[in-house]
Amino acid sequence: MQFSDIAGHETLKMQLRDMVDSGRIPHALMLSGASGLGKMRLAQALAQYIHCDNPHDGDSCGVCPSCKQHRKLINPDLHFVYPVLKLSGSKPTYSSDYASEWRKMLEQNDYMPYEEWLDILDAANKQPAIYVSQSEEILHSASLSSLQEDKKIFIIWLPEKMNVDTANKLLKVIEEPFSDTIFILVSNEPGQLLATIRSRVQNFAMTPMDRAELTQVLTSRYGVSDQTASEAARLSGGRIGEAIQLATHADERHEFAALFIEMMRMAYSKKMTAMKGIADTVAAFGREKSRRFLTYCSQMTRENFIYNMRIPTISYLTGEEETFSSRFSPFIHEGNVERIADEFQRAWSDIGRNANSRIVIFDMGVNLSILLRIPKPQK
Ligand SMILES: [Zn+2]
Repeated sequence: MQFSDIAGHETLKMQLRDMVDSGRIPHALMLSGASGLGKMRLAQALAQYIHCDNPHDGDSCGVCPSCKQHRKLINPDLHFVYPVLKLSGSKPTYSSDYASEWRKMLEQNDYMPYEEWLDILDAANKQPAIYVSQSEEILHSASLSSLQEDKKIFIIWLPEKMNVDTANKLLKVIEEPFSDTIFILVSNEPGQLLATIRSRVQNFAMTPMDRAELTQVLTSRYGVSDQTASEAARLSGGRIGEAIQLATHADERHEFAALFIEMMRMAYSKKMTAMKGIADTVAAFGREKSRRFLTYCSQMTRENFIYNMRIPTISYLTGEEETFSSRFSPFIHEGNVERIADEFQRAWSDIGRNANSRIVIFDMGVNLSILLRIPKPQK
């Protein structure tokens, strides 16, 4: 990954570059900000820049042996730490136990959505974590000399998934650093990190891109129309990962909107024959697209709830969605919103486990028809 692969964020890239060029790299730094901004890409670009044999014009060269190894994710002095599922029994669990899953995650998901990681791990209802055995492993590897480069670099994805014991062990090595070790923490929720760790890392906040810049990136790098790009930029709230998904699936969003509206109408009026037809339509999407539809349904439920609460916020709805929501949102309230969201989530998981989509969606429709009739609680 090179800085030039990352659109926008020029000031932040310059700060990081200057830090390396002046030889003042802290032992531990953090890239923090919302999910989907590209923090992992930036962490990788920074690591490659630090290791590059011939950096020039403000970027790694892309062709030296180190750069080539970075591109293939095989540089021996670049280590990734990430939350994983505990191995069964009393075996110590390390991130590297899931190395092939991690490679798949990095290669297929530029913007690292956490739900994708849960999916790749087949986590179902389990919560991945960074275990204390992993911290011990970091301590051990940090104490060894680097294999090839001047610096060993550890990129820790989602350090907020460390429990207290793990975090305290890591704190020890951050407090008494080895001179040739650099930690790059990549955090979606830095507020959940131990305050003692937060205070010892130099934080670089990554902010959402502004709408005009993001629109420009979408048209120039992804070849979408101005109108699609500008709508995706608005709907994404400046998160490029989300914006790319929206811009490159703009037709799909219209298709999903129409289907969601139809499904909610049929559920509310208890038209179960029509619901069977909707289940057939979703089943014909295939696994990945039906799950994208369910994710869309979850988002729409949240947006309708917010709409109903009249919480002043930026609208993340398209015109057609807003027209529907202005009438539909009163049916989504604190008495049913969580249970409706659970229905979509459960269907999403079940389809991921190869359950029969037609049955899953039809059952979900039956449950929705009950949940939508729950009256709004009186205050
Ligand atoms: Zn290079």
